[in-house]
Amino acid sequence: MKQTADVVIIGGGCMGASTAFHLSKLGVTDVVLLERDTMLGTGSTGRNAGGVRHQFSSEANVRFSIESIAFFERFEEEVGSPIDLHQDGYLFLLSTEDDRHAFHTNVEMQKRLGVEVDELSPAEAARLAPGLNVDGILGATFCARDGIADPNGVTMGFAKFAQAAGVEIIREAEVTGIKVESGSVVAVQTTRGEILTHCVVNAAGPYARNIGAMAGLNIPVLPYRRHIFITQPIAPPLAPASRIMVIEFETTFYFHREGSGILFGMGDRDEGPTFDTSVSWEFLERLTPFASRRLPALGDSAIAHAWAGLYEMTPDGMPIIGAAPSLRGFYMINGFSGHGFQHCPAAGRMLANMIVGTGEADPDAPCFSLERFTDPSHRGERNVV
Ligand SMILES: Cc1cc2nc3c(=O)[nH]c(=O)nc-3n(C[C@H](O)[C@H](O)[C@H](O)COP(=O)(O)OP(=O)(O)OC[C@H]3O[C@@H](n4cnc5c(N)ncnc54)[C@H](O)[C@@H]3O)c2cc1C
Repeated sequence: MKQTADVVIIGGGCMGASTAFHLSKLGVTDVVLLERDTMLGTGSTGRNAGGVRHQFSSEANVRFSIESIAFFERFEEEVGSPIDLHQDGYLFLLSTEDDRHAFHTNVEMQKRLGVEVDELSPAEAARLAPGLNVDGILGATFCARDGIADPNGVTMGFAKFAQAAGVEIIREAEVTGIKVESGSVVAVQTTRGEILTHCVVNAAGPYARNIGAMAGLNIPVLPYRRHIFITQPIAPPLAPASRIMVIEFETTFYFHREGSGILFGMGDRDEGPTFDTSVSWEFLERLTPFASRRLPALGDSAIAHAWAGLYEMTPDGMPIIGAAPSLRGFYMINGFSGHGFQHCPAAGRMLANMIVGTGEADPDAPCFSLERFTDPSHRGERNVV
């Protein structure tokens, strides 16, 4: 293992890998990426639903989506690895007048930014997703360019490209401490030794707060358990043949086709922060009435696979990207609040530019800064699923 590096990245999920890729594209290759696990992408990145969408409530997130989805469309050509991108659309189902109004405002903003998104009646929504029950639904929104991609393909694609450019990737190396002298980062301590550096990137996903604490920082990111269940085969027309992602916004219940089965999940509003990633079968019992109400075929199906992972939540549902104001050389790419996979291309590009100091001031950077939490006029992201 190297004993010095220009940049040390902590965490080998999609954020660490994207940052390494974008740094290497800018010519910064004296970089070490540290991952405590035996493989990359086994944290939140390896446990997510793969969804990519333009339909956010904050302009900064919509711009991140426009950039990231365009990047996914040319990923294979630019990065050299396939990512199994399917753009069969995202359908949001709205069951309250307040949500319909809020989504109408969002659609106007998304269209102004150039996104092709439509407001639909319940009957139009039902036609897009065979098997769907739209009882109690007042309206819907649909963006055909939204879709699903492979998080592992994206992470490994970024990592292999960076490695080929000279970035060193070290697995089974857990960061245990960060040395600070006179207000600057000077070294990263690991279970495999120390690396001297003046630049460290916290890309530790749900563990971002723990890494921050090693440097004396309070990073407001909390872990929340989220489940995914995949059924035994369910054939069309009992469920859509396409991979359209359907989300009931009020409950956060969602599903999409995964092979011959259906993948589904929902947030658990009764559970507080936890690092527990075991599967709660009691939660499946609570989720089943919501699932079988929207997609009745789910009421009769058996579960073939199930797992749980962690959302890395901030208080306002927006990520934290940039330098720590009080500690020179400490950078964060944290707190993506359930939609980090899809934003990793834009987030990694933004952070790499900040580290290198390309001089391009990004107008959205203040929305993602740690300092925003003290700005009372700042508005967060509402479309957290
Ligand atoms: C069930 C579920 C569904 C989701 N669905 C979607 C979706 O459809 N679309 C979407 O965009 N997002 C989704 N997300 C969110 C998305 O997965 C995350 O926002 C994203 O993966 C965060 O990536 P990351 O690289 O920051 O974190 P991670 O992938 O968790 O990577 C962090 C890495 O840091 C390592 N690490 C931690 N501490 C240390 C240490 N001390 N030393 C060394 N290494 C360390 C960990 O081992 C880990 O590999 C979902 C998440 C879950 C849990």
